Amino acid sequence: MQEVILKPRKARPFFGRHPWVLDSAIERVEGDPADGAVVDLRSDRGQWIARGVYNSHSRIRVRLYTWSEPEPLDDDFWRRRLEASVRWRQTLFDDVPEGAMRLVNSEADGLSGLVVDRYAGYLVLQVNALAMATRLECIVPMLAELAPPRGIVVRAEREMIKLEKMVISEGHCWGKAPEGPVFISEHGLRYGVELGEGQKTGFFLDQRENRRVAAAYLRGQRVLDMFCYSGGFGICASALGGAADVLGFDSSAKAVALARANAALNELTNARFEEGDAFKTLDSLAASGERFGAIVLDPPKFARHRQALGEALRAYHHLNKQAVGLLEPGGILVTCSCSGYVTREDFLHMLAEVAERTGRNVQVLEQRGASADHPVAATCLENEYLKCCICRVD
Ligand code: SAH
Repeated sequence: MQEVILKPRKARPFFGRHPWVLDSAIERVEGDPADGAVVDLRSDRGQWIARGVYNSHSRIRVRLYTWSEPEPLDDDFWRRRLEASVRWRQTLFDDVPEGAMRLVNSEADGLSGLVVDRYAGYLVLQVNALAMATRLECIVPMLAELAPPRGIVVRAEREMIKLEKMVISEGHCWGKAPEGPVFISEHGLRYGVELGEGQKTGFFLDQRENRRVAAAYLRGQRVLDMFCYSGGFGICASALGGAADVLGFDSSAKAVALARANAALNELTNARFEEGDAFKTLDSLAASGERFGAIVLDPPKFARHRQALGEALRAYHHLNKQAVGLLEPGGILVTCSCSGYVTREDFLHMLAEVAERTGRNVQVLEQRGASADHPVAATCLENEYLKCCICRVD
């Protein structure tokens, strides 16, 4: 019997279906389970709680997958979970063959450590846990059957490989390997996505609905798209929103090249993308007296750990203050944060401070999060990270 026994008074979160059993909650491990083996979780009084997968190297010592005692974690189990994730998403969005969306979102789909994105018929698996890495031979063919793809590509972040001590062969692993970028369609617009090398799994799918909704506020405006990556917000603003013109910046030359190619792909003549650091660019735009009717701020994660929260909030404050200074009265600010440690409340508080410091009135029109294909488990709110506020600034 391979079992993990909790310390006294540590069981509550796991009865509450939290899927991460940290090493600090564990009293003892019985039966010497191998890394990747299935274990049962019990309270200090011997009560059965849940079943999961063991990893002696990770701080998340057990990832829990079922709270039903008769349910084994066998091949059939993983198939049921994958099938459920893929099936309910078929009713989401207007799904076209070139469409892109997240098919599996880790804990929220009961598959802790596995993300699956679909890009125009290719699947990209992002493996974030040894529990999933050791089951790829079972999972990959199941996905191939459930969502018949052109090809499947496996990726893992270096940080996760280290934290989970995973042995994983990244790269193309099933079907046809994509040659060059894969072309996807989102809201009828086309984008080239580099599956093997781009940021995230290649595209920021989580901002899908925010790009569309924000665009509707930008008709006739001069739009500044800061941290543009492959141009999503700016391209949407120009093509769907009827923005007068779009200027985008990203510090990565590769991102700027992608954004330019995507603007050309959509035959946009009023969207320009340049390489530049956001903080410096905002300063120099202000110095040269530029003004915008709308500004999008979609920076990378500023707080990578809890200790970095204060510094991150100062960076958000500075950035948003710079942007507000460049906005015409009545201008639109689309401001985002993808730092999980920054709560929605922290973020709104930061905006209040920006309003106070700049003497401008900031009206929050919409408070948004990630698209519906990126759900969050109510029992694992640690996974909620994206904030996107659409504001009007007087
Ligand atoms: N808005 C994009 C996603 C942005 S992701 C979309 O809809 O697809 C964040 C981007 O910020 C990345 O492309 C990264 O290269 C860029 N970046 C990181 N630090 C930066 C900085 N200091 N100045 C400008 N861009 C930066």
